[in-house]
Amino acid sequence: MNCPVCGEPMLPLMKDFARCPFDLLIACKSAAATTYEEEYFFEEYKKQYGRTYLDDKEFLQKRFRHRLHLLQKQNRFLAGKSILEIGSAAGFFLEIAEEQGFLAEGWEISRQMTLYAESQGRNVKQGSFIDLAESHIEQGLNPYDIVAMFYVLEHCPNQQKIWDLTAQLVRPGGFLLLALPSAMGPLYTFQRDKWIQTHPGDHFADYTPKSLRRVARRFGFLVRHVSSEGIHPSRFPGGKLPLLKNLYALFQKLVPFSDTMFSILQKKVL
Ligand SMILES: [Zn+2]
Repeated sequence: MNCPVCGEPMLPLMKDFARCPFDLLIACKSAAATTYEEEYFFEEYKKQYGRTYLDDKEFLQKRFRHRLHLLQKQNRFLAGKSILEIGSAAGFFLEIAEEQGFLAEGWEISRQMTLYAESQGRNVKQGSFIDLAESHIEQGLNPYDIVAMFYVLEHCPNQQKIWDLTAQLVRPGGFLLLALPSAMGPLYTFQRDKWIQTHPGDHFADYTPKSLRRVARRFGFLVRHVSSEGIHPSRFPGGKLPLLKNLYALFQKLVPFSDTMFSILQKKVL
């Protein structure tokens, strides 16, 4: 198979997975797209996390506040700036962004989620990312100061296209916030079989902090920050032992070695 970013042949890695020798990203041959209508946010989400997306609001918003806090550490003068969230779901992140003084807009493919977010007063457009991005660019509308994509990128078959369009939506000097699974984490490293078995069928690409740096550079971004999102010491060898558990947790807070990562990229000023 060919790399979904650069198009070069990939090297077989294991089972259905292959790795690009240039970008180091891992792609899954058997991945297939799914629809993200309400059953995704209710049944599918519940299967994975034990509660529905809407029930998870408090937990999710705590995480969103932390992500914006990390962004503001990069640049303290972002209040009042425009922020676009791609895949805005129920609008929980947009709500926090508005609270913090951003001009927040969401794009969301699920009609149900868009209607819900609108009923809560959020500014959301419904449609596929590619359609909305192409129309934004064709109309010559302004790029955004900040674009956010949380657990969206890995769901896209054509990585090159998503990166290319996203890069056009961020103004030079602006930021791209990404949260995504990471193959540089305890699950991939210590429990490879489990990683393969539990790999979601609709994930086309897996990045590590290093592959993210390489791909980002191709599209004019510099990686300014990467950190662990999920702190799960129990996934390390002996990680259930009290002393080791604390050590692993500390290690994950210091180093982006986690099954999910958060990253802040900055678009280069030409
Ligand atoms: Zn490649």
